Amino acid sequence: MNRRDELAANLAAVRARMDRAAVSAGRSPAELTLVAITKTFPASDVALLAELGVEDVGENRAQEAAAKHEVVGSPPRWHFVGSLQRNKAALVASFADVVHSVDRPELVPALDRARQQPLDVLIQISLDDSPGRGGADPGDALGLAGLVAASEQLRLRGLMAVAPLGADPAPAFAKLAEVAGRIRAEHPDATWISAGMSGDLEAAVAAGATHVRVGTALLGRREPPVR
Ligand SMILES: *Cc1c(COP(=O)(O)O)cnc(C)c1O
Repeated sequence: MNRRDELAANLAAVRARMDRAAVSAGRSPAELTLVAITKTFPASDVALLAELGVEDVGENRAQEAAAKHEVVGSPPRWHFVGSLQRNKAALVASFADVVHSVDRPELVPALDRARQQPLDVLIQISLDDSPGRGGADPGDALGLAGLVAASEQLRLRGLMAVAPLGADPAPAFAKLAEVAGRIRAEHPDATWISAGMSGDLEAAVAAGATHVRVGTALLGRREPPVR
């Protein structure tokens, strides 16, 4: 099979999973957005996915993402889902349409200042106690949301999270939904919940996810990082 056919088959399978998950949760498949996570894969794969109808792609490293954006351009919409350093905020703001990973106050002015037009932003919250995987403490989410909402160019769209490793994702996604409800009570436009990956998208959709971030199931296994 050539790469295009392989990606087309994987895409059909992922979309079928999303549709089934939506229907079993009593939701419309139209409520779900697939963000194809293309990290470590070449720009040519991003271009093929776009040709196959994928409208949203996501990356987790600023330089790698910027380089692929140079090649592929927009559309597709570019989502930044990785942990963000303040000194990379301007680079990310130069190509991203959506940043999923705002998890501390200092990132808000850094992104805002770098932008001349609106940028969609999600607050990333942490769903486990192990530090290092990124995400704000759920108790800090409302404060961060307020900072984003008060900025010039950033549009608060909702929340993002990654389920804890090696545990049942359902309670974590339920917690995310609860925090999302509290944010929405003060910020009615913050309706997006970015949750669910190749292994747990069904649980995320059952808990109300609007954006699923799928890498492996679409593109195949990633090579382990070179050290
Ligand atoms: C890599 C990554 C994904 C995709 O994970 P898969 O298990 O390959 O589907 C989703 N979200 C984030 C933040 C990631 O870094």
